[in-house]
Amino acid sequence: MRLTIHRGTRQIGGSCVEIATDSTRIIIDAGLPLDDIREDQKPRPKLDRDKPIPEGLAPVVDGLFAAGQKVDAIFLSHAHADHSGLLSHTREDIPVYMTRGTSKMLLAGSIFAAQCPVPRERQRTMKPRQPVVLGDLAITPWSVDHSTFDCVALLVESGGKRVLYSGDLRLHGRKPGMARALIQAASSPPVDVLVMEGTHFSGRHERGPTEEELEADIAGHVRTAEGLVCGIFSPMHVDRLVSFFKAARNNGRTFVVDPYGAFVLHLVSGQCRIPRPDAAAGIRVFYNAHFEQTWQRKNLGKIHGMFTASRVSKDEILRSPKDFLMLFRPSMLKLDFAGAFPSAAKCLYSYWNGYLVRKEWSDFKTQLAAAGGEFIECHTSGHIFSDDIVEFVKAVNPKEVIPVHTTSPSSFGEHFPNVRFPKDGEGIAV
Ligand SMILES: [Zn+2]
Repeated sequence: MRLTIHRGTRQIGGSCVEIATDSTRIIIDAGLPLDDIREDQKPRPKLDRDKPIPEGLAPVVDGLFAAGQKVDAIFLSHAHADHSGLLSHTREDIPVYMTRGTSKMLLAGSIFAAQCPVPRERQRTMKPRQPVVLGDLAITPWSVDHSTFDCVALLVESGGKRVLYSGDLRLHGRKPGMARALIQAASSPPVDVLVMEGTHFSGRHERGPTEEELEADIAGHVRTAEGLVCGIFSPMHVDRLVSFFKAARNNGRTFVVDPYGAFVLHLVSGQCRIPRPDAAAGIRVFYNAHFEQTWQRKNLGKIHGMFTASRVSKDEILRSPKDFLMLFRPSMLKLDFAGAFPSAAKCLYSYWNGYLVRKEWSDFKTQLAAAGGEFIECHTSGHIFSDDIVEFVKAVNPKEVIPVHTTSPSSFGEHFPNVRFPKDGEGIAV
């Protein structure tokens, strides 16, 4: 096999990896670079599928974005834009393998989060632990715990050689069994190459709580709240969605989601243990102003009609704010609650705190404070902590480790003797 990391050897996000033999060639992930997080910087404008990719946004990969050497398939580890964001610009004749859950998250992202969709006819479903055989490559997805739904690591085998691409993963989630199964598969016999994510070696993150500890923390804040509780988190982080839902239910509050959150619940309810939006299950839907203003233009009549039976109005929430925990986003303070935000509200912020330097968040905190509200950070990372990277790599015991998804590849060299540091685009024989 020949392994090429087209992008990711020295950066977080924008991931793109190629594995090829003489006869078969696959690409794993085709991501957008992450936005720089700076006070003065707005998120990058959304990509337009009908226009060429702006200069410098895509790595140079022969045959992936334009005519060239054949790519047999793309495999997607998960539905985060830094791994999937360039898919819509890849050649339309290349099939894209993904899990059922990833397909669902791409759909929700394309409707509600301005991400580009991947046409159904290009999608192929892969199931965890079931190898996909393409030519002389066998590609097996292994479920991993991360901050969106149904993510996988990919084990690629050919001619007795084995490469494991970790994708994004963590060991402090709710499902430690996933990591145990992955380690077992990758260590017996040990893989020749482990392409390992090292987000937390990049120095700007510290060890945080486990998802279960965070759930207890959220529940504690909800228990002592005297007014409305607002949960600020990504609905695609289904584990976090579950933490907030349980905190609401266990404290006698109704869990309120927006149509985006409701649609994610609708999509995943068949695959995990969380109910669909339904007043009897304690989940109701708030049709926020942004959705009300845009659903007709965006042709979302079907989704609009899907949740009307469990709809909750602003007046109902304002009549008794302490009975609700609602999924919230900064724009709602102005658009939905201008001048009428309930007093003594608690906002539980559950994203990476690096985003807080952005102006939208400082504005939000100012407005919230003016309305007598409280801003509380309640978060833990979707990425594996530094100590756990060391533990995971030692357990897999690969012949060679290649850092990816990190700005600090040299940290791997401090912990392991068998690290290789290729440059972006450099081919390696396995
Ligand atoms: Zn990710």
